[in-house]
Amino acid sequence: MTEIGIVAVGGYNEMGRNMTAVIIGEDIIILDMGLRLDRVQIHEDVEIDKMHSLELIEMGAIPDDTIMKEINGTVRAIVCTHGHLDHIGAIPKLAHRYNAPIIATPYTSALIKQQIEAERKFEVCNRVIPLNAGGTYQVTEDISIEFINVQHSIIDCVLAVVHTPVGAVLYACDFKLDRTPTMGEAPDFERLKALGKEGVVAMIVESTNAGRSGKTPSEQIAKDMVRDVLLGTEESEVGMIITTFASHIPRLKAIIEAAGEMGRIPVLLGRSMERYVGAARDLGYMELPSNVEMHGQRKDVDRAFKRIIQEGKNKYLPIVTGHQGEPGSILVRVANGETPYTIEPGDKVIFSANVIPSPMTQANRYALETKLKMRGARIYDNVHVSGHAYREDHWELLRMVNPEHVIPAHGDMEMHGHYIEMAEDAGYVLGDTVHLLRNGEVLYIEE
Ligand SMILES: [Zn+2]
Repeated sequence: MTEIGIVAVGGYNEMGRNMTAVIIGEDIIILDMGLRLDRVQIHEDVEIDKMHSLELIEMGAIPDDTIMKEINGTVRAIVCTHGHLDHIGAIPKLAHRYNAPIIATPYTSALIKQQIEAERKFEVCNRVIPLNAGGTYQVTEDISIEFINVQHSIIDCVLAVVHTPVGAVLYACDFKLDRTPTMGEAPDFERLKALGKEGVVAMIVESTNAGRSGKTPSEQIAKDMVRDVLLGTEESEVGMIITTFASHIPRLKAIIEAAGEMGRIPVLLGRSMERYVGAARDLGYMELPSNVEMHGQRKDVDRAFKRIIQEGKNKYLPIVTGHQGEPGSILVRVANGETPYTIEPGDKVIFSANVIPSPMTQANRYALETKLKMRGARIYDNVHVSGHAYREDHWELLRMVNPEHVIPAHGDMEMHGHYIEMAEDAGYVLGDTVHLLRNGEVLYIEE
C-alpha cells in the first residue's frame, strides 16, 4: 500500500514563498520554490543574490526546507507551475540541495534559467527540463508529471498533476478560469473533467481570492479597461505614463496595441521589463511592433526619458515598473524627480495593477501616489483584473475535479478559511476531507 503525504513547506501561512512536497512511498516530488518579496524589501539595500539560504530562511523570505531532512525518501523532481517569483524565486537558494531536475513550461524554464544565472552565492546545476502544457514527463517507473493548460497573470501557466500508483495529486497554484484569454488557450476543461473521472486523491489549491464572491473577470475585460482609459479622454495631448506587472505579457500586449491606436510610441522601461518581455519575444510568445523601444539599464532609461521630453511627451507612452511603489523602480524615480522625465500638472499616471494587500506594499504605494499627486498628476488606479480564481471559479474547479481530499495553499489563514467554507458548501468536512495545513506540517493520506 503506497502512502501519500503532503508537506506544507512554505506559502501556507502567508502570501509568497510557496513550496509543497508530495511524498509517494519512498519518492518525493517538490512543487514550487518561491520567494516572499516583502521580507526582502523590508531591508534596504539587501543583495539577495549574495545571501545564504539559512539567512533568507531566518528572514522568512524563502521556504524553510530544513524540515525535508526529517522526511524519508528521495526528491525526484522539482516542478514549477509558472514563472512568478513566489513560485520560482527560491530556486537559486534551495534547488542545489536536491539531486533532481527542474520541470517547467518553456517560458517558466527561461525565467528559471535567468534566476540561476543571477545567483552569486550558490552553484545551481540542476537540469531544467521544459515541458509543454498538455505534455507528460515520466519521473520514475510509476510516477509522472502532467501539465494541464490554464490561465493566470503570466503566460505559459499550468496546473501540475502528479500521477502516482494510487491516483493523481493535482496542484492548482495559481490559476483563473478565463474562457476568453487575450493570449494562449482557455483552460483545458476537457482534460480536467477527464482527470476528475479518473480519480484525484488530493488537490492542493491556491486560496488567494477564495474570499472574493463571483468569478474573476476575463483578461479581455482588462484589455477593454486599458483601452478605455488610454483612448477615452478629451485631454489626449498630455503626458501619459502607465505601469503594470513586467511579467504580465498579455497586459503589456494590450497596452502596446493601445499605444499604436493612440499614435504614440510605446517605450518599455525597467530591468524586469527587459527580462520578462525579452524572454517572451525570444521564445516567440510575443511579437513586438517594430517601433517599440525597450531599455533596462538606468543610463539607457534616462537617455530615453531625455529624448521623450525633447521630442514631446505626447508622442510617447512610457510603460514602466513601479506599480507597487518598489524602491528604485522607474515610477518611484519619476515621482522623486530623479529622471529627466518630470510630471507636470494634468499628466496622467495609469496603474494597470492592483495594490498587493501587504502593509509594506500599501505603504510604498501610498508614498508613491502622494508624491505623484503633489506634482499634479491625475491618477487612474486599478485598471486591472485579477489573475487569481474567485470563489465561484473555485467551486467549479472543485466539482469538476472532485478530489477525495482538498488542501488550500498559497494564502494566509483568512484566505484558507474562505476556501474551507466554500469546500464545506460542496460537501467536504474540515479535518476529514478538507485540511488546514500550516508551514512545516505533514498530512498523510491513507489509501
Ligand atoms: Zn502567480
